[in-house]
Amino acid sequence: MSARSEPVLRSKGGPVSASGPTIGVLALQGDVREHVTALAAAGADARPVRRPAELDAVDGLVIPGGESTTISKLADIFEMRDPIDKRIADGMPVYGSCAGMIMLATEVLDGRPDQRGFAGIDMTVRRNAFGRQVDSFEAPVEISGIPGEPFHAVFIRAPWVERVGGGVEVIGKVTGGPAADRIVAVRQGNLLATSFHPELTGDLRLHAYFVELVRAA
Ligand code: GLN
Repeated sequence: MSARSEPVLRSKGGPVSASGPTIGVLALQGDVREHVTALAAAGADARPVRRPAELDAVDGLVIPGGESTTISKLADIFEMRDPIDKRIADGMPVYGSCAGMIMLATEVLDGRPDQRGFAGIDMTVRRNAFGRQVDSFEAPVEISGIPGEPFHAVFIRAPWVERVGGGVEVIGKVTGGPAADRIVAVRQGNLLATSFHPELTGDLRLHAYFVELVRAA
């Protein structure tokens, strides 16, 4: 048999990438492109995901900021809910930012009665918590496990975390100002969530942290 007849090795989603793990960004609604760009810059083979077959081809998933009620509705319409729940139960790493954090919470305060999250992090989040007086809010946030300067965290109609279960590690709190000490970053095993949007500030450290988490999983 000649070498020419040997199959070319491919992953389900396309050519095997030498650069890093394949990470999808849930592309139902929200700031998908910014996360794809940040993940690619952090060394991942990043791509949008909106169909179950596309989910099958990734090693990890980012749920972007946007509007959690809309993402919840579209997850049903695109028949993504059960596949995502199943992958999470199987240990797939997921990072949720803002609306994505809400989608990963087991309990949501000030949500819409019909909105539903994925099988996720044992925590209670309050939706639009920072957005009562002002839509957007910025503050320094230190993330344990990520060395260097505090993050310049941008919160846009963001949730904060009001309760965490025993298995959840609080990795970031607001350090000053009117929202001091509010929990805004958590990790439970392979699930990571932040209230803020690192994809908007050009700080790649959180995406790099997630890429490493996916690589290790
Ligand atoms: N307020 C939005 C929600 O409830 C989240 C805002 C955001 O993701 N920037 O889903």
